[in-house]
This record gives sequence, structure tokens and C-alpha cells, in this order.
Amino acid sequence: MASDSTTVNPFETAKRQIDIVADLLHLDGGVREVLKSPKRELTVNFPVRLDKGDYHVFTGYRVQYSMARGPTKGGIRYHPQVTLDEVRALAAWMTWKCAVVNIPYGGAKGGVICDPKQMSKGELERLTRRFATEISPIIGPEIDIPAPDVYTDSQTMAWIMDTYSMQKGYSVPGVVTGKPISIGGSEGRGEATGRGCAYVIREAAQTIGVHVKGASVAVQGFGNAGSVAVNLLHDEQGAKIVAASDTKGGIYKPDGFNPHAVEAHKAKTGSVVGFPGAKSVSNEELLELPVDVLIPAALENQITKKNADKIQAKIVAEAANGPTLPEADEILFQKKITVLPDILANAGGVTVSYFEWAQDLQGFFWTLDEVNQRLERVMVKSYADTHKIAQQYSIHNRTAAYVLAIQRVVDAINIRGFYP
Ligand code: NAD
Repeated sequence: MASDSTTVNPFETAKRQIDIVADLLHLDGGVREVLKSPKRELTVNFPVRLDKGDYHVFTGYRVQYSMARGPTKGGIRYHPQVTLDEVRALAAWMTWKCAVVNIPYGGAKGGVICDPKQMSKGELERLTRRFATEISPIIGPEIDIPAPDVYTDSQTMAWIMDTYSMQKGYSVPGVVTGKPISIGGSEGRGEATGRGCAYVIREAAQTIGVHVKGASVAVQGFGNAGSVAVNLLHDEQGAKIVAASDTKGGIYKPDGFNPHAVEAHKAKTGSVVGFPGAKSVSNEELLELPVDVLIPAALENQITKKNADKIQAKIVAEAANGPTLPEADEILFQKKITVLPDILANAGGVTVSYFEWAQDLQGFFWTLDEVNQRLERVMVKSYADTHKIAQQYSIHNRTAAYVLAIQRVVDAINIRGFYP
């Protein structure tokens, strides 16, 4: 599924997006420069002892993009293709995502160039503990709070939390989110992204007069975000889930299936493929099915100018980050398809990360119901705020979400003033 834009430098894309919004908001040159400049960047080269006894020097980055609205927040990814510009772009996008849902954070991101699939658990632990030590001068509950991202998980966060705590001499659970519940993680964090996505789909459907009860839904990527979103749409809103896919391919059953049964099939066989009673479809075909709601929940660059015209869904809800290319956005807008952009549709994850941090700081933990009710309030308000701007400026939801976010960051920059 390579795309025509995989070679584009993501930070150039991020800066272009800022310019588009800066034009709409008539921002002056100075503020533009601030918005396009990552505030703080740290590159670290550090040795890790491999199982065979020799040492390898790894390179890692932590970029804190903007602190105007609060401490910075963003994941750490382990991947062979990590670059500084990619980390900068991801840190910028985290800044806008936190601002769209109005949580008191700036954005950050981190990455280590490595191939975690080729590393043992011991090697990954040593890499994580050393990387955490290298970036420890600039992380902390009041400065910058990492979280899991590609090929990092709650275990990685537990190692970072422990390493940081050992250096301080006391436990600091609020230094990372996405931790196991036993050491200060939050109820509801695991399903927050899919749940948040289901809430904004419900809100958007109401706006455009689609009844979610009985609406057909296709999901590309039946993983954490995608499977939770469709389970909830099915269980709580009565939607008809008709298609799902993973790396091995997809399934389609026009009269609908129980997503929990598909989950059980995937747990047993390793894939959704072969689910009894469903036809096979490719990941490309899935995107073009005649459905009411399409949820890209796998990879970036899936909806391009080549297939955008063939999308039939009324709502495209981006559980994945960056599934739609800018030129495809325009086509979807012309076709009057409601796109729920990633920085809104998958912001439930960072929202419950914020709740996790707030609980850690208080040392007082909430029930699952309390977490979900607060998440619902945040997602409903964020959708309404975005929709209002889309109408006000006659723009699509993605640009509207950027306008909302960047305006909030600009307000913070201006009211704080330029130091000294
Ligand atoms: P995951 O690994 O749990 O699930 C990804 C799913 O996509 C898997 O089912 C996998 O088989 C499938 N997939 C991978 N490559 C595919 C391909 N080429 N074609 C079709 N399916 C493919 O990951 P996740 O946490 O659900 O994340 C999915 C997306 O959601 C990513 O873009 C991620 O950045 C975004 N996201 C996730 C969270 C979160 O909290 N989990 C938060 C924000 C954004």
C-alpha cells in the first residue's frame, strides 16, 4: 500500500498545514515563525549492551514542540526509519491534537532508531532505561510526559517510570501515561481511542441526519482503535458492522456481523480473514464499499487522489493518524463526505492519558464510569467546536480542527507574551 506521498518530508507537510491556517487567521509573521519552530529538540546517542556481549550505539530524539498551553505530551516510537523531521512533525500534530480537545498540554514526540522486532526483551529493557536516562533532564510530570507509540507499550512505560523514579529516589507515576493500572495507569485508557471515535461518529451522524442505529460500518484495521470503535458502535449504538480488515486482508458481509465474534475468530486464527459467512475483500476494496461509515484505523496514506472519488461512505472517521492525503481531502469535501479528522477522531487516547496524569498527580483514582463520562463530555464538545468553525468559515472539518487548535495555541502565545 505504498503511496505517492510516502517520500514527502512530514515536517514540510506539517509546516504547510500551519501556513494554510495562518492565512485564514491572518496571523503575523512572528507568530507564524513560532508556530513553525519546534521549541526544544534533544538528540541522544547512547550505547546499549546487546545479548551477545557487544555494544551498539543507538540514536534517539525527543522534540518538545510547544509549551504555550502546558507541559508537552506525546508518544515514543521505536522504528528503524525514525527521523528527526518525522519526530518534529509528529510533535507538531500532538500540539494541535491536545489543543482541539482543549486539554492543558503542548505537544511532543520521541523516537529511537532501532528494529524492536530483532531485539530481545532484555535488550529492549536496557535500551529503554538508557534512553529514559538520556532524556530525563527534559521529561517529568511538569515538563514533558511520554506515552506509548509504534512498537512501544505499557511495559515500555513501566520501565521509563521506574528508571525516572530510581533517579529521583521516589515513585513518579505522572512522568508517563499508558502505564499498567498496577502502577498508576487509568481505567479506560486501553479502549479510549476507539471509544472517543465512536462518540464523534455519533455526534457527526446527528448533524448530517444519519441514524447510527442500523447504519453500515466498515473498518480498515481491526486492531486496538478499530475493533473497540466498531464494538461500541455495534453494542451501544446499534450500528451494523459489515466489513473489517487487517494486514492479511478483509471480510465483507452486507447484512452485518457481530464484531465480538470476529474478534474471537481473529484471536484464534490470527486474522479476520476466513470469518464464516463473509466474503473476502482486499484492503483497497474495503475502502470503496457502499457503507454509511468508514473507519480507517490502520495506516497513513490510504485515501489518495486515486481512490477518493470512489469512496461511498457518508462519514469517514479517522481512527488512524494521517490516513487521508491532502489532495484526497478536497475530493471528499466536494463529494460532501463528512471527514472526522485524526486530530479529533482519535484524540480520545490522549484525553484519557491526560486523565491518567491528573489522577497520578492527585493520587486519587476514578472509576471506569467516571473516566468514560468525562471522555464523552470532551469528545462531544470538541466535535461541536470543530463543526461550528467548519460552518463559520465554510471549510472542511480538518481545516476547521486545525483552525480551532492553532487559534488556541496562538491565544496562549499572545497572552503570555514574548519573553523577556
Ligand atoms: P494496532 O496495531 O492495535 O492495530 C492496527 C491494525 O491495523 C491491526 O489489525 C493490523 O493488522 C492492521 N493493519 C496494519 N497494516 C495494515 C494494512 N496494510 N492494511 C490493513 N490493515 C492493516 O494499532 P492501533 O493502536 O489500533 O493503531 C491504529 C492506528 O490508530 C494508527 O494509525 C495509530 O497511530 C492510531 N492511533 C491509535 C491510538 C491508540 O491509542 N491505540 C491513538 C491515536 C491514534
